[in-house]
Amino acid sequence: MKHSNSEALFKKAQDSLVGGVNSPVRAYKAVGGSPIFIKQGSGAYVVCEDNQKYVDYVLSYGPLIFGHAYPKILKTIETAMQNGTTYGAPTKIETKLAEKIKKAYPYAHKVRFVSSGTEATMSAIRLARGFTKKSIIVKFEGCYHGHVDPLLVAAGSGSATLGISDSNGVLDKIAANTAVLNYNDTKQVNEFFKQHGDKVACIILEPVTGNMGVVLPNLEFIKTCRDCCDKYNALLIFDEVMCGFRSQKTGTHEWIGVTPDIVTLGKVIGGGLPCGALAGSETIMNYLAPLGNVYQAGTLSGNPLAMAAGLETLNNLENGSVFSATSNYTQELTTEIKKTIKKNNAPISVNTIGTMFTIFFNKAPITTFSDVQNCDMTAFKTFFHTMLNNSVFLPPSQYEACFTSFMHSQKELNKTIDAFNKIF
Ligand code: PLP
Repeated sequence: MKHSNSEALFKKAQDSLVGGVNSPVRAYKAVGGSPIFIKQGSGAYVVCEDNQKYVDYVLSYGPLIFGHAYPKILKTIETAMQNGTTYGAPTKIETKLAEKIKKAYPYAHKVRFVSSGTEATMSAIRLARGFTKKSIIVKFEGCYHGHVDPLLVAAGSGSATLGISDSNGVLDKIAANTAVLNYNDTKQVNEFFKQHGDKVACIILEPVTGNMGVVLPNLEFIKTCRDCCDKYNALLIFDEVMCGFRSQKTGTHEWIGVTPDIVTLGKVIGGGLPCGALAGSETIMNYLAPLGNVYQAGTLSGNPLAMAAGLETLNNLENGSVFSATSNYTQELTTEIKKTIKKNNAPISVNTIGTMFTIFFNKAPITTFSDVQNCDMTAFKTFFHTMLNNSVFLPPSQYEACFTSFMHSQKELNKTIDAFNKIF
């Protein structure tokens, strides 16, 4: 398939935009080649500047659970827009969206809206430090929480260790207060807390990961995180920016059986516009300004267009079978894919939950970050380009989750399976 227009646009973009993009994964570094430039999205499809149409499993990395340009969401944004785009003053729709979030996350009594997932996690860890008066943050390899300095940290040497920075520009002394442990490693969490628990402000984790592809939590591991936080007066933060309203119809707490102290949200709650949130108990959240001394603010926080799009999305999600239909699509698709894998005895495994899935080029079950690192990345590249050439648009990295939408139907499922069969 020729993408000459996209290639020309990418070349031109590189003259003005760093690397030709505004977020690194879009540059196709992991898969090679030139990214397709999108000019339009509709339902389950995107159309590129070369006028080719693709079944879309990127869906803007999660927000678009109703697919592209869902008429009801567009109409709501349009109506809100007629009244102006931002005021720098409170609006009643912020309270309405907060009420919706509280309904889905009953342990969260107070909400603070921000404009991205990064802002949500950045504010959540500041809040945890302000609340506990402690410094160390525990995170896990393979979980991504946005480009926040103390969260851009890789594991250092040794098993339970304080981190070294993953990115130039992050000061060593900042990284030194972040510990990076192995996801799903219960023993390591216990050992780390025995040694450093009295200095830990919080654990932040993706309760269902999407940022090393979809990896499901070992429930004992999450419970251990909760127990350690309780024992050492640290806060547990579930980062549900990606998995919130995606892995389950609402939050992950009921399914996991563990309640965190703070949840961070983004993506779906903004209905495709820039939005994030942190939420938790009144006691904790009241530490934030203007009630408390943990400062947090934002010119466009609670933006009326984002609030309107988010509220319309959550209203529609509450409605009957939307989540189950989307989740069923995902299960049917991955079941078909697994059948093909089995028939061809291919070294591929598939993880899925709710409306998210990842196809891993590794025969072994994928439960840890090192399982993902052991995937055949060359095979993934070939797979990605084969799917693209057969009109299926996937995230361009083995370390990403694929997303489905309410607009994906049998027709798209058949197209995807036909494309998948071609990789053999
Ligand atoms: N947390 C998680 C779990 C994410 O997946 C992401 C982004 O993908 C973020 C935080 C950061 O969100 P944003 O890209 O909106 O800043």
